[in-house]
Formats: sequence, C-alpha cells, structure tokens
Amino acid sequence: MFDKILIANRGEIALRVLRACKELGIPTVAVHSTADADAMHVRFADESVCIGPPAAKDSYLNIPAILSACEITGADAVHPGYGFLSENARFAEILGEHGVHFIGPKAEHIRIMGDKIEAKRTAKRLGIPVVPGSDGGITDDAEATRVADEIGYPVLIKAASGGGGRGMKVARTAAELSGALSTARTEAKAAFGDDAVYIEKYLEKPRHIEIQVLGDGKGRAIHLGERDCSLQRRHQKVLEESPSPALNTEARDKIGETVAKAMREISYLGVGTVEFLYEDGQFYFIEMNTRIQVEHPVTEMITDIDLIFEQIRVAAGAELSFQQSDIKFHGHAIECRINAENPVSFRPSPGKIQYYHAPGGLGVRIDSAVYQGYTIPPYYDSLVGKLIVHGKTRSEALMRLKRALDEVIVDGIETTLPLFRALVREKDIIDGNYHIHWLEQFLAKGGMDD
Ligand code: ADP
Repeated sequence: MFDKILIANRGEIALRVLRACKELGIPTVAVHSTADADAMHVRFADESVCIGPPAAKDSYLNIPAILSACEITGADAVHPGYGFLSENARFAEILGEHGVHFIGPKAEHIRIMGDKIEAKRTAKRLGIPVVPGSDGGITDDAEATRVADEIGYPVLIKAASGGGGRGMKVARTAAELSGALSTARTEAKAAFGDDAVYIEKYLEKPRHIEIQVLGDGKGRAIHLGERDCSLQRRHQKVLEESPSPALNTEARDKIGETVAKAMREISYLGVGTVEFLYEDGQFYFIEMNTRIQVEHPVTEMITDIDLIFEQIRVAAGAELSFQQSDIKFHGHAIECRINAENPVSFRPSPGKIQYYHAPGGLGVRIDSAVYQGYTIPPYYDSLVGKLIVHGKTRSEALMRLKRALDEVIVDGIETTLPLFRALVREKDIIDGNYHIHWLEQFLAKGGMDD
C-alpha cells in the first residue's frame, strides 16, 4: 500500500478522497491555491502545501509545483480527483518518471480515451456499440456531406478533444452543414487548441446512461451497473440516479457484461465510466471517462462499494477483492448537484455562505466541502455540494429527496436548490419519464418562472 497520498484537487472531491485515505490509514497531503488556504480539504489533511495563485493553470494544473509538493512531503502517490489533471496522460507519465504512483489508469488508456475519435474506434473494435457517424476526423465539406447523407440528418459535429459538453453543433439539414462545421472547428480550436472534429447521428430523445467499471490492470474487470444522467443543461449533468428507470435487469446485465469484457481485454486499471446514449432499446457509445466521476456516490449507495477505496487499492497493485457475482444492487439512489448559481438564469453566484444547515437522517448523504462562513471563490466550478439519497425503491428515494431538499439551508449566495425542489414535484420526474432534452424544455417552457 502507499505510504502517503497527495490529493491534487480541491473541493468536495478532495475531501471525499481524504475520507477514503483516513479509513485506509494512509497519511494525506492537501495542495491548494492561495484562494483555498481556508478550504476544508486543507484543514482535514495531515499536511498541506500551497502550490500557487488562484488561477487553476498556476496551481491545480501546475505540474512542477505538484511534483515539488510530492518531493517535499515524501508522498509516493497522487490522487487526481476529477477535472484538473485527472485525464492528463502526460501528468501520469511524469509522476511515474519521478517514482510517484498515479492513482488512475495506465497512461495509454487515458490517451486513447481522451481523443474521442480514437476512443470510438477502440470501443467499436472491442465490440461496444457506437453512434453511427464518421469513422475518423472530418477534413473537408465534401466528406462531411457524404457522411451526413449516409447516416441521415440531423447530425452532430463534435470536437475530438471536446469535454464538458462544449464544442458540439447540430446541423438539421444539408444547408446547415457547412456553417456548423466551420463554427465547430473555430470553437474547438479556441476551447481545446485542436480543431479536429467528427460527425455523429444526432439522436432526438435519448437517455444518457453510463456504466461504471473497475479493473485491476491484470485482466480482471467488473461493472457496477449504470447511472442515468439524462437530466442535463447545456450537456452538463444536473441530477443522476441509479438504477435507470429505463433499464431492466436483463438489459443492464447485457450492456454491463459487454463493457466489462472490453475492459478485461485491454486490462483496464482503476475506475472508469463508459458513457452511452440510449434510445429505443439500443445503446450507443459516446465516450469513456478514465477517472472517478462526480456522480459516483449513486453507485456506491446501491452497491455498498467504496469506489475511491477500491481505486486506491488497485493502483497499489492489489487484485480485485470481488467478482461480478459478488456485486448486488439494492434500492435506488439519486444525486442532485447543488451549484452556486441563480436557479433561473444559472448565473454563477460565488460569495460568502452566511448560514448553512445540512440535511440528515436515514438514507441521506452530503458530499460537500462548504461550511458556514466559507466563501465560495469565483475561480473554480460552482459546485456547493452533492445531495445523495438512498431508498429501498425509487419512490422512497424521491420521498427522501423531497424531505432532504426542504431541510437544506444555504444562505448568502444563490443556489440551484429551488430547481431541485421544483423537479421532485414534476410528474415526468416522478414517473422517471425524461430524456436528455427534458430539462431544457422544462426551463424554456418557464418551469422555474413562478
Ligand atoms: P463531453 O465530453 O463534452 O461531455 P459527450 O460526448 O460526453 O461530450 O456528450 C455530452 C452530452 O451531449 C451527452 O450526454 C448528450 O446529452 C449530448 N450528446 C452527445 N452526443 C450526442 C448525439 N450523438 N446525439 C444527441 N446528443 C448527444
């Protein structure tokens, strides 16, 4: 096992990793920017090192500073959390070159999955169903027209290096194609420094269903069921649940096994998520995330498996401590991402939390790094915390969610809590009847205006 783990992240995920380390009995090092000197992860870690000014590029993305922090503190492993350097293959390699373990997949797998064109090609080769579209990058308009005619309109143009729901453009007709292509390229270049794009069939009303996987890097890999993340705004997840109201045991086992088999084939190491769109009973691969995800707690709640704990174990060379048949799903879990944003305009609302009261009781979990008197800095994402509920059934989980949402108090800043309080009262949500465009349609109809 590792002697000391440095957590190269901030906020709730840094705290989440810290908790797993404490249970494993491993000393921890927090790193922080000058803006985060008072942050909870800094207070709870055994040691802490300031790695730079507020801007992420000078601190949480500053590889030399993080390496120095490892050296000063004697940390022999780094947990990257999500975002920041978590999917940076070069970072994983550099750590390795300095004798520090990266708690994550092999660099080659991060690299393949980080290039969405290459990822799709790999998925296809491994027998995972993919969205119909171009086989590789699209270089000219003629080729784009040919592919679009073949798969049929509407089509979606996506950035090869895309992420965070950015860099996507829909073309509904042939006339819109050329314009969409050049806008997508320009935006991709500006956002990701890479103008490579590809084309996919645009699915009209799919659900977003993703499969959690865990591998030991030695050819053993299992799946831990799915998460339904169809409630999105601007392609960003807002609420996640497991199991998906759209899947039965047979469908879950089938797609889960397809994915687990693919992970065994490449000897995948660590946790990962294979993301699909699901429409009319068919799964279509869109991408794979080679890291722990924000919404991992819903899987933990229905499997009783601590994903961070397992991630650290396998990174240290341990074998998986269970087989597929040991994984039992029980009950239902739902997570709400509570952001410091106006619930109607979604304008960020950083600032000081004047009063804070967290909900509690049976089946309620809060993953958050805020406290009363804490100031949410304007430099990073706007996540205040995640409220996760568990119940024996979906309706029990919803009942608990409604109750817990009514208990939370976050004063001093605006949050998206009113949005969730409205959502749990919507018939479609209660019925589990929603797709990836449902939330935007609800908002456009003025669902939050009264
Ligand atoms: P990112 O890496 O930017 O998150 P993804 O490929 O994971 O991009 O897609 C994010 C979201 O965009 C999906 O959850 C879905 O809502 C939407 N999306 C992606 N591909 C398609 C598609 N082919 N048709 C319709 N919607 C799509």
